[in-house]
Amino acid sequence: MFYEKEKQIAIAATLSAWKLCERVRENIPQAMEKIDKSPVTVADYGSQAIICKALAEVFPNDPVVGEEDATELQTPEMAENLAKITQYVQEIIPDATSEQIINWINQGNGKVEKRFWTLDPIDGTKGFLRQDQYAIALALIEDGEVKVGVMGCPAYPVENHQAGALFVAVRGQGSTMIILATGEEIPIQVVAENDMENLRFVGSIEASHGDIDRQDAVAKAVGIVAPAVKMDSQAKYGAVASGKAALYLRLPSPKTPNYRENIWDHAAGAIVVEEAGGRVSDMFGKPLDFASNPKMLENRGIIVSNGIIHDPVLAVLNE
Ligand code: AMP
Ligand code: MG
Repeated sequence: MFYEKEKQIAIAATLSAWKLCERVRENIPQAMEKIDKSPVTVADYGSQAIICKALAEVFPNDPVVGEEDATELQTPEMAENLAKITQYVQEIIPDATSEQIINWINQGNGKVEKRFWTLDPIDGTKGFLRQDQYAIALALIEDGEVKVGVMGCPAYPVENHQAGALFVAVRGQGSTMIILATGEEIPIQVVAENDMENLRFVGSIEASHGDIDRQDAVAKAVGIVAPAVKMDSQAKYGAVASGKAALYLRLPSPKTPNYRENIWDHAAGAIVVEEAGGRVSDMFGKPLDFASNPKMLENRGIIVSNGIIHDPVLAVLNE
């Protein structure tokens, strides 16, 4: 099978990072602030260190374009945080040193190339801090196309079981959901139903990450009557891929019209939805550009659907 090794390594690395994130979450994580004012925790750094190390061991020539960077961690004010990160990483890699951890994190400073990985070590840090949804999102991109996507969602609700699901997709091979509690791997599909009255749509909990009023209006215009289901992180892609929702709308917030989406916030989720039979584009119907830059400079807004309602949504947005 194509990309079998990549898939297995990505799953194993994501599960190691998952363990670290959940250990941090047990102890009620505290946020630190990055220079851009966005929150980060010891788990974001620890997760990136573990995944970059695991990838480098097996694919030493693959660059990783990750969200975090260790520069700020090396300042004297951050010494205590670095010591904490080192403790958590040592629970998984016992002989890891702070110096190695800095280097592993900085392996995530790679560039977009012909073949590379993109990583969000904790997508939805604000959700993580609230004990809500978050995702560890890892994807392999080749020739501008996502080939493998793994999304670890430790807080994802699973019927009759403890929370926790892993979404996995390989191009041409479909999407699956691995239930952490049982290890069961279940093929998933988007909702095929064309009965809008029973359809749900998802959006961010963080109001500042989208245009809630417009999202509500668009959903209503295509016939969705239920109010939005709010969820943090790329777990929203998991909800569409597994048929829990038919649509995920992420329209640019009027307060941040110049915001551009990052590839690590969408690559893993996008392939999981596409391989489950759904469709992903920007708000003008353009494919997401994973080939050029860590930021998707040519895309605006994100539309994720079961496929059936994609064109009607685009028509409402662009009429
Ligand atoms: P979500 O939980 O889906 O809202 O996604 C969390 C992601 O939102 C984070 O990874 C940020 O990169 C991203 N984000 C931060 N600010 C904005 C913004 N103004 N508009 C859209 N997304 C944003
Ligand atoms: Mg993110």
